[in-house]
Amino acid sequence: MQNFSGVGVTPGRIVGTIRQMPPAVTEPPAGQKLASSVTAEEAAESIRSASKAVQAELKARAGAAKGDAKAVLEATAQMAADPMLIKDAVKRVNSGSSPERAVWDAGSAAAEMLRGLGGYMAERATDVLDVRSRIVAELRGVPAPGIPASDAPFILVAEDLAPADTATLDPSIVQALITSGGGPQSHTAIISRALGLPAIVAAAGVEALADGTRIYLDGGAGTVTVNPGDEQTAAAEAWASTASMLSVFDGNGSTADGHLIPLLANVGGAKDAVKAAEAGAQGVGLLRTEFCFLGRDTEPSVEEQVKAYRGVFDAFPGCKVVVRTLDAGADKPLPFLTDATEPNPALGVRGFRTDMVTPGVLERQLKAIATAAEGSEADVWVMAPMISTAEEAAGFAALCSLEGLKTPGVMVEVPSAALVSEAILRRVEFASLGTNDLTQYVMAADRQLGPLASLNDPWQPAVLQLIRLTVAGSEAEGSQKPVGVCGEAAADPALAVVLVGLGVTSLSMTARSLAAVGTVLNTVTLQQAKELADLALAAPSAVEARDRVRSKLGILEELGL
Ligand code: PEP
Ligand code: MG
Repeated sequence: MQNFSGVGVTPGRIVGTIRQMPPAVTEPPAGQKLASSVTAEEAAESIRSASKAVQAELKARAGAAKGDAKAVLEATAQMAADPMLIKDAVKRVNSGSSPERAVWDAGSAAAEMLRGLGGYMAERATDVLDVRSRIVAELRGVPAPGIPASDAPFILVAEDLAPADTATLDPSIVQALITSGGGPQSHTAIISRALGLPAIVAAAGVEALADGTRIYLDGGAGTVTVNPGDEQTAAAEAWASTASMLSVFDGNGSTADGHLIPLLANVGGAKDAVKAAEAGAQGVGLLRTEFCFLGRDTEPSVEEQVKAYRGVFDAFPGCKVVVRTLDAGADKPLPFLTDATEPNPALGVRGFRTDMVTPGVLERQLKAIATAAEGSEADVWVMAPMISTAEEAAGFAALCSLEGLKTPGVMVEVPSAALVSEAILRRVEFASLGTNDLTQYVMAADRQLGPLASLNDPWQPAVLQLIRLTVAGSEAEGSQKPVGVCGEAAADPALAVVLVGLGVTSLSMTARSLAAVGTVLNTVTLQQAKELADLALAAPSAVEARDRVRSKLGILEELGL
């Protein structure tokens, strides 16, 4: 049988059986009528029994789940049998609508009503839409959308994963991830690294694999072998013992000759921060504040924000915590800040730019950060996403200063910011390279698209040139201001070495990658890292850059990274 290859995004070697993630439920045709062979009463009964079946399934899953996943499933189960929803759908069937269309319209109306109520109720709109899809899937006799329910472990195969899928992804059941879409900076990649799940993205053709197919996945090499033999089984067993060795970071990022490179964590809230601190992170290099409020229809209050940020600060007393202001837009929409109908959201009003259209939200967020920082023992730095010009950097620094926030910085993730980094760094105290977006923008390749994965690769020499230029901009300032990396590039142990060679001063990544990056960094001197950076910069392609550097770092193969 055919084997597959894609882009390996999280190392790990594993043998297991696959389950496909069902596709999203499509909308029934507008105005679809009740079939003449079915009475309205029969149609109404089919809706009632479909809703009961959905509720029973969700309740069963909630019973077996823990933490956030349990709460999400319980809330959804309750909504599946909501009498108002069912009554409205039945009314629509009585007026001649097909059951599917009736449920679809009743769900839309309920979601609209909840949005109109605002606050907590508005946030439940997404849950109603999920329930709507599940009942329609049940009526059609097709699998429910989302991650398949299972008691037995499996390797999940999907087109791509959305941030919301994380809530119900149980890493004790899902052993690894393969997507046909997505790129190395996609959410699937970010989720897999955060959960420590071996993963491959952009593996074209894997959607043809039947549920239950046994495969061997190598997340370092990016390969999938169908019906593996003894050799692959042995490789998977060997990895299992290496993985336990690579789960401990000693809390000291440094090269072999003692050049200190703090290894920080990327977190999405207090829970992540606590785990990151336990994993030995030397601070937080990126708090994605929009992750604290995903799915919210309304702006969180200052008090709510203070609580969310304080939870993160408290996990890192005495350490640096870099808070990024809301980066809403593109793949992370927040309805209170972004316009869902924008034709080209990645180039649209996202990140710092939302302040042009919706002023006030940023000021209130800075106030909340300043309030949370007061009396906390963390060393709080603040940075703005999607900065493109020195004027924007100056504007952000001025807003921070009004709130008494003394360490303003910017993300360098738009190529223009890398090109004018010297001017930008005159206005702020530090920069953090967002290599995920920097790569998508300099290569003009949507980071979510599988077919563009080879372009969307932070090893691209053009990306490395921009990183070198940003560092040079910080050095031209006289006293060098810190330039870190908080994109996914920092979590790739080989690329992390190159980044250090290019002169970056800290690396921030998912806590799971700290041990691997720390171990590999500790085997090279700063001079060797510089030589490897030159080697990568001189390569004619991303693939060559990666191969040349990897061939000089024997430890990677030794550790299966
Ligand atoms: C980046 O773009 O590299 C980054 C860290 O930000 P995000 O992935 O949240 O866009
Ligand atoms: Mg970004």
